[in-house]
Amino acid sequence: MLEFSNCIVLHGRDLEPHYCHRFVVQGDTIAAIDLGEPCQAISRGYVVLMPGMYNSHTHMGDACAPDGATGLTLEEGFFRPNGYKYRKLAQQPEAEHLTQITNHLHYMARTGTIGHIDFREQGAYGAQLLRRASEATGVRSIILGQFNQLPLTESELQQNVATLSTEAIAELTEVLAIADGFSESTMNDLTDAAWKEIYQVTSRHHKLRAIHCLENEGYREVSLAITGRGDLERALELYHPHLVIHATVANREDIQLLSQNRVNVVLNPRANANLGLPLPPVAPLMQSQANLLLGTDNGLLNSPNLFAELDFTYKLAKSQFGDAKQPAPQTILKMVTSNIRAVLDGDTYGYLETGLPADFVALNFHQPHLRSSQHIPASIVTRVTPEDVLLTVRQGKVLWQASDFSPIA
Ligand SMILES: [Zn+2]
Repeated sequence: MLEFSNCIVLHGRDLEPHYCHRFVVQGDTIAAIDLGEPCQAISRGYVVLMPGMYNSHTHMGDACAPDGATGLTLEEGFFRPNGYKYRKLAQQPEAEHLTQITNHLHYMARTGTIGHIDFREQGAYGAQLLRRASEATGVRSIILGQFNQLPLTESELQQNVATLSTEAIAELTEVLAIADGFSESTMNDLTDAAWKEIYQVTSRHHKLRAIHCLENEGYREVSLAITGRGDLERALELYHPHLVIHATVANREDIQLLSQNRVNVVLNPRANANLGLPLPPVAPLMQSQANLLLGTDNGLLNSPNLFAELDFTYKLAKSQFGDAKQPAPQTILKMVTSNIRAVLDGDTYGYLETGLPADFVALNFHQPHLRSSQHIPASIVTRVTPEDVLLTVRQGKVLWQASDFSPIA
């Protein structure tokens, strides 16, 4: 049993801070939340409990080369078949790579993250490697596998008629036996016919689908040149993705499309900025019906620390709104907590209520830089550091605990 008394809880789907007399976990479930008054400011230290965070876009295979893409363009660093990332991954010895990925998952737990949705390269082998790291750390990895090598030639892609070979379908089935779904770099890596086949196979296996779209103008331009349609339009029509990643250069029509279809859009503003790309249209997307999530994207560009992403995104959104009042910090915090419900449902809530899974993080607001906070959600978004995380818990299991902290009654 874990028990906290006299703490503050960000309660419910809207993450409203309340004083809390008792917060009790039994087994994998929140057994009781004895709520007090709502509170925003505090005058002395408290432990603050918030939902465990979800990082909705990572490439944890990149744990082998942090900051390895420094100075490289998107195409040089990350594109198939010979971008730096793919060359580097192919050279990694298995045991060493597993240790690197495991260490990065531990780091995610110590920065308040309980789960992540990963684009895992290297086919079935790559998916298996991440599965092992996930089991070792207790951090939930939702693995979206991809083909080890692109199954279509450049000329087949240009003609845009080829279907997948029997071997490619067999590899896809093998990946899906381990992974939770499928991902691919861009719509331009496969033909329209292949996307339709992937949609059918993943649907039959009840698996997730995700794709990078509109990360730069090149995605749209190549797609238009080959098929007459932009990459986002093709993705929604042929592949029906559960997650669209980036939307960095989404224009008014693209945002309308994302809104009408209530698409789950994962923004990765730090990764976009680090590649010298435009910043994503966070404010217009927030005013649409799209469901927004946040990711830290490639480890070659960013640490998987969501506190850094929250801070960057909050300030970017305020600048784009041109309004000091918008958005509320909770709206940004939902992108790593309660907004995940629409994607994963089942036992995944992303918020704290009695009877729900015990997926939470304890933050140390006794710290000198936090103890007089006048706005708790704003302080979480802009001021909390990984060192302020006391405890990270998923389904009642402690994934990370600060050495001098004990919540056990
Ligand atoms: Zn990515």
